[in-house]
Amino acid sequence: MTTSGKGAPDKPVRPAGEDPQAAAEFLEQRRAMVYEQIRDRGISSPRVLEAMLAVPRHKFVPPELVHDAYKDQPLPIGEGQTISQPFMVAAMTEALELTGDERVLEVGTGSGYQAAVLSLLAREVYTVETNASLALAAQQRLELLGYTNVHVHTGDGTLGLPEFAPFDAIVVAAAAPDLPPPLVEQLAEGGRLVIPVGLPDQQELLQVRKTGGRIASRVLHYCRFVPLVGRYGWGNQ
Ligand code: SAH
Repeated sequence: MTTSGKGAPDKPVRPAGEDPQAAAEFLEQRRAMVYEQIRDRGISSPRVLEAMLAVPRHKFVPPELVHDAYKDQPLPIGEGQTISQPFMVAAMTEALELTGDERVLEVGTGSGYQAAVLSLLAREVYTVETNASLALAAQQRLELLGYTNVHVHTGDGTLGLPEFAPFDAIVVAAAAPDLPPPLVEQLAEGGRLVIPVGLPDQQELLQVRKTGGRIASRVLHYCRFVPLVGRYGWGNQ
């Protein structure tokens, strides 16, 4: 309902979105997620904790799962895909060592949740999703929530985005058989690539750093991600 354009409507209008009590409950759950599941398990970067406190994760999961949004587990988001476990999002994000000025590439947009977290910690976020319907939903969600420095692309993220390279940080949110050469190539000097590498049912989360044109990796965690598909993934499934 609208007024004739002369001043405010005669009845107070509830702002679009959830009611204040629900928002307060979700905030409470989000605090527990950040302090108990993430900080107490070893993620110490105040910026990462702050960003995860700020992003409403329940708005990135299907409506019927909002009450599970802050649990320490991945959740289905449709198309056979999942939003990653909050602790893994935090661990991957921390390992990117963002200070606020970076151009970041994410492979595997999924729900758009990690892109939203990254957008608060870097200058520009480019994210690529192979599944067109997930990409579209994520793009609309990010726009609605006001994450204006995230750019969603549809395509094979194992090829990177050469037209926007180099990237100071690259994160891959699906399990790769090995390091995709285009991503190593598109990593800036001094940049960090965080990627799960290994077998389809068990991987090592690697932090790869490029220094003097050479790369060095270290293992951060053992993990299990959905398979990366595409040219340098596990093939089309
Ligand atoms: N970061 C996401 C979770 C991603 S799950 C979030 O915060 O919700 C992994 C995603 O990677 C899936 O959506 C899957 O479709 C996508 N994916 C798999 N292989 C890909 C590829 N080669 N390029 C781009 N996206 C890919």
